Amino acid sequence: MLQNVTDAFQDIRDAVRALCAEFPDEYHRKVDEARAYPEEFVDALTKAGWMAALIPEEYGGSGLGLTEASVIMEEINRSGGNSGACHGQMYNMNTLIRHGSEDQRRTYLPRIATGELRLQSMGVTEPTTGTDTTRIKTTAVRKGDRYVINGQKVWISRVQHSDLMILLARTTPLAEVTKKTEGLSIFLVDVKQAMAKGMTIRPILNMVNHETNELFFDNLEIPAENLIGEEGQGFRYILTGLNAERALIAAECIGDGYWFIDRVTRYVGERIVFGRPIGQNQGVQFPIAEAYIEVQAADLMRYEACRLFDAGKPCGAQANMAKYLAAKASWEAANACIQFHGGFGFACEYDVERKFRETRLYQVAPISTNLILSYVAEHVLGLPRSF
Ligand SMILES: Cc1cc2nc3c(=O)[nH]c(=O)nc-3n(C[C@H](O)[C@H](O)[C@H](O)COP(=O)(O)OP(=O)(O)OC[C@H]3O[C@@H](n4cnc5c(N)ncnc54)[C@H](O)[C@@H]3O)c2cc1C
Repeated sequence: MLQNVTDAFQDIRDAVRALCAEFPDEYHRKVDEARAYPEEFVDALTKAGWMAALIPEEYGGSGLGLTEASVIMEEINRSGGNSGACHGQMYNMNTLIRHGSEDQRRTYLPRIATGELRLQSMGVTEPTTGTDTTRIKTTAVRKGDRYVINGQKVWISRVQHSDLMILLARTTPLAEVTKKTEGLSIFLVDVKQAMAKGMTIRPILNMVNHETNELFFDNLEIPAENLIGEEGQGFRYILTGLNAERALIAAECIGDGYWFIDRVTRYVGERIVFGRPIGQNQGVQFPIAEAYIEVQAADLMRYEACRLFDAGKPCGAQANMAKYLAAKASWEAANACIQFHGGFGFACEYDVERKFRETRLYQVAPISTNLILSYVAEHVLGLPRSF
């Protein structure tokens, strides 16, 4: 089955692979060392139309589904790159397409499709509430034809390389709603305008070369027409983006997993110690084989999550499980890869340590492994709520 699904997207794979081949290991290594943004790489992806994959044809995009988008992200990571620089545009897109008004779609989608605008950021996480999203403290208060935003966000990625951000804020106080998921709303924020009018950005230096920031909102006014969908229903809308994000990140982890397995398989076949290739030892073979099995299994769940998402069916369980399996598999592949490269795994010029750091992030973000287990226990198995 996996072969059939994979074959169905071979044209996309070949084209993305050819583009990625123009950006070899040295390119990504230098960007990482300089803690820079891979501007040329993202531009090339945009010019080739890949960043507009999900935009319907009538708005200038290619009208592809999440499945195809996931193949694009997988190929970037499989080539040695890191989709973290640009995956926001993919997972945010469906939130705007599915829940935005026709006016919003007409205003923004064609300009995103040409690359004039980037929709790379989503502001959900807050420093004092963490994973407990419904308790966020950022508020949006309607004043005439505007909303006034106050509060703080943390770990909001690519803000400095995006024109637009989807922001989650509370429009009705928690104490006044019957369900804690109600009273939250999402807004499209014009980043440059916001920076001039009450939004402050403070970058967070982190383990991965991932542009991410603290955001502070001090009476930021945004036009009421930037509300996406109905006021108070934002939590439901943001789940569209979060499920897409989980499925896409699963695909990225799968790309990483194959990258680690390819590299380590080649290395252990060539590295001679004790007069024979180290890959001749079963103690070396087994962890690599195990990681390969797990990456392939995760790959199946990724396609299932994407299939359901594209069919407009509930896919929360599958998106979460795909992300769980893929992040675990890529991490095991990363461990085997660094271990069997011996000392060379720690040398930057082999790229293993960079990819190792990058893939480690996905045990925590965008949702931690524990929270996925808790979701499955409660929502799939029907066990009592623990929090
Ligand atoms: C590099 C990076 C980029 C990010 N980009 C974005 C972004 O663009 N937009 C955005 O909104 N967010 C972003 N995030 C935030 C990310 O989604 C959160 O870090 C993640 O959801 C975990 O939330 P937290 O850090 O507040 O951890 P906490 O909620 O404080 O949890 C810490 C740990 O405790 C454990 N834990 C917590 N609660 C429970 C529980 N009930 N049961 C069992 N274990 C539990 C989990 O293991 C968890 O990892 C990013 C984070 C990073 C590191």
